[in-house]
Amino acid sequence: MHWYHGFERFVQEDVSLADRTSYKVGGPARYFARPHDDLALSLLLRRAREEAVPLHVLGGGTNLLVGDRGVDGLVVRLPQQGFAEMRREGLRVSVGAGASLPKLVKWSLTQKLSGLECLVGVPGTVGAALRMNAGGKYGEIGSRVLSVSGVELDGKPFRFDTAQCGFRYRDSDLKDRFVTRCELELEPSEPAIADDLIRLIIGEKSKSQPLDRRSAGCVFKNPKLPGVPPAGKLIDELGLKGLRVGGASVSELHANFVVTDRWATATDVVGLIRHLRRTVQRERGVLLDLEIAAWGVGADEVAA
Ligand SMILES: Cc1cc2nc3c(=O)[nH]c(=O)nc-3n(C[C@H](O)[C@H](O)[C@H](O)COP(=O)(O)OP(=O)(O)OC[C@H]3O[C@@H](n4cnc5c(N)ncnc54)[C@H](O)[C@@H]3O)c2cc1C
Repeated sequence: MHWYHGFERFVQEDVSLADRTSYKVGGPARYFARPHDDLALSLLLRRAREEAVPLHVLGGGTNLLVGDRGVDGLVVRLPQQGFAEMRREGLRVSVGAGASLPKLVKWSLTQKLSGLECLVGVPGTVGAALRMNAGGKYGEIGSRVLSVSGVELDGKPFRFDTAQCGFRYRDSDLKDRFVTRCELELEPSEPAIADDLIRLIIGEKSKSQPLDRRSAGCVFKNPKLPGVPPAGKLIDELGLKGLRVGGASVSELHANFVVTDRWATATDVVGLIRHLRRTVQRERGVLLDLEIAAWGVGADEVAA
């Protein structure tokens, strides 16, 4: 009998992940599940833990590289149904982690609530935005969080206040947890100020990011070392813009973006990342950390 006996309604085998990531490369998930409610999610995670099936949490796949061999384990993605509701009570907003982040930003503006404008242009889901503390130079989602809830990877529920979330630059203590909901505190909006900020951010992004290409956003975190420039600048200064491995290349617009052509493989992306890390370490003595998640890719394959 297979390990997911009793969960057949929402577990599938050998499901393509290339279709579910923005790079559009990589192999399948051995098991793929979309549990319909919190209880089903908890029970499934508990079973996977008991049966030693490795677990991966998938959002919109916009910050993720899946290797060509695929993922030998269980990939779980929250369905929209039941996990994407948005509610407000005064300035407090409660959101399901499966909701689309762009939809949440838009909805908050229609509700005349301010605080999420800094996330305009960031694709993906609310759950991953919390896990990654998504944002940019105008702010990060973590600064608006009152609480985050979900399930531990063994199926036990958790509820964290802001301090427990440990939000930091593109990271948090929500790693290795399954976020299902959050509560945010926003402010009354001044529509003219919000519009100006949104226009500014969209203008900056459309000039500096390859928005018409397949990418996963910034590949590397910016090194937080005194005097060391951001990752994109380091790569650009070494003349690596446009560098290509098969169907993967360094964007001409933003050197921290790797873009993929239709014929690209995950192995091309891995080869390019390894080359960039090696070159930056050799020439500048800086070891770049990955911002993207990499599944089914060995640490040695992307090592500098
Ligand atoms: C064109 C483009 C522009 C981008 N610009 C920005 C930007 O300005 N700022 C920025 O921060 N990011 C940016 N990104 C990166 C990406 O959009 C964000 O990191 C986003 O939050 C990822 O969301 P996702 O749902 O696609 O996550 P995924 O790629 O599916 O997953 C990312 C990580 O989050 C984890 N995760 C997913 N869902 C959950 C959950 N419910 N609970 C716990 N962990 C979970 C995954 O396991 C994985 O480790 C950009 C990406 C693109 C393609």
